[in-house]
Amino acid sequence: MSEQTITVTLATEKKAKPDASTLVFGKTFTDHMFMMDYTEGKGWHDAQILPYQPITLDPASVIFHYGQTVFEGMKAYLTKEEKVLLFRPEKNMERLNKSNERLCIPAIDEEFALSALKQLITVDKDWIPTEEGTSLYIRPFIISTQPYLGVAASISYKFMIILSPVGSYYKEGVKPVKIFVENEYVRAVSGGTGSAKTAGNYAASLKAQQIAAEKGYSQVLWLDGVEKKYIEEVGAMNVFFKINGEVVTPVLNGSILEGVTRGSIIELLKHWDIPVTERKITVEEIFEAHKNGELEEAFGTGTAAVISPIGEFFWNEQVIVLNNNETGELAKKLYDTITNIQNGKIEDPFGWTV
Ligand code: PMP
Repeated sequence: MSEQTITVTLATEKKAKPDASTLVFGKTFTDHMFMMDYTEGKGWHDAQILPYQPITLDPASVIFHYGQTVFEGMKAYLTKEEKVLLFRPEKNMERLNKSNERLCIPAIDEEFALSALKQLITVDKDWIPTEEGTSLYIRPFIISTQPYLGVAASISYKFMIILSPVGSYYKEGVKPVKIFVENEYVRAVSGGTGSAKTAGNYAASLKAQQIAAEKGYSQVLWLDGVEKKYIEEVGAMNVFFKINGEVVTPVLNGSILEGVTRGSIIELLKHWDIPVTERKITVEEIFEAHKNGELEEAFGTGTAAVISPIGEFFWNEQVIVLNNNETGELAKKLYDTITNIQNGKIEDPFGWTV
């Protein structure tokens, strides 16, 4: 499949570039997109880069009825020297195929997908914003396109990549968020699709997110779907705690998404000789550690915010405030180091940037 060529059709009219200071996440798209089709018996074919445009699908397409779809999220950064940097993009392509496997979607050629992505970004390079903290968000996704109402894996798909310039996540500097521990709704269960990046997980999370927002909380802390006791994730991020000098994060259990940022933080902490453990963590333990003065920091991790410090937890009518609602030292150090590696401002000792 790697021998495939990509047909390129350039846009004759270019859109006006947005002002980076007014960018809202995920609302502006570049001039071009990547698209490739899958047909049973033929495999993935007809790779093309073409002007960004709507697509036409049969109303009976499997995606609309049974949600057989997967996606990824990653970013490209422009360095001072005008070099385009991607952060561990092979990890996202690998995860896309893991999601594909879970959703019965045919695997893509990861190397080819990465080279297609690089070519697309090159075509739209002048869309990468340069202001501090800005980047080009990349959304690869696959949808099932067979017109068929039977519940079965589709026999045709579209793999697409769209690009969206995004502003700084923290316009006023890194700021801690308030978290609502969700006791009723769950995001995923072991054996379900939680470890895949598929639309249904996000649709399932909206209700709790809406309720938390109404109560003034910016994200939901998800507990395990069986006992509602163990901590899983926070919003669409993985979660870390620093307790008594040790960093802990929930062990991957099949219902947690394996974040690229999560993996990078674990490696970075080991590199710094800071003890880090992946294990089961109960919400009770966190509240107990806070009571004993041992809970030093908590933060979420993900592509969008990189590090999102947590300033407050609400659980069963109890509220705990961490660090006086200020960003912890470790969260700040991790944020600075990772964003500086991503932007090419400091040397990358891990070979993460491409
Ligand atoms: N958990 C969920 C549910 C997510 O959607 C994301 C964002 N992809 C993450 C964790 C963090 O993953 P990453 O660090 O790869 O962005």
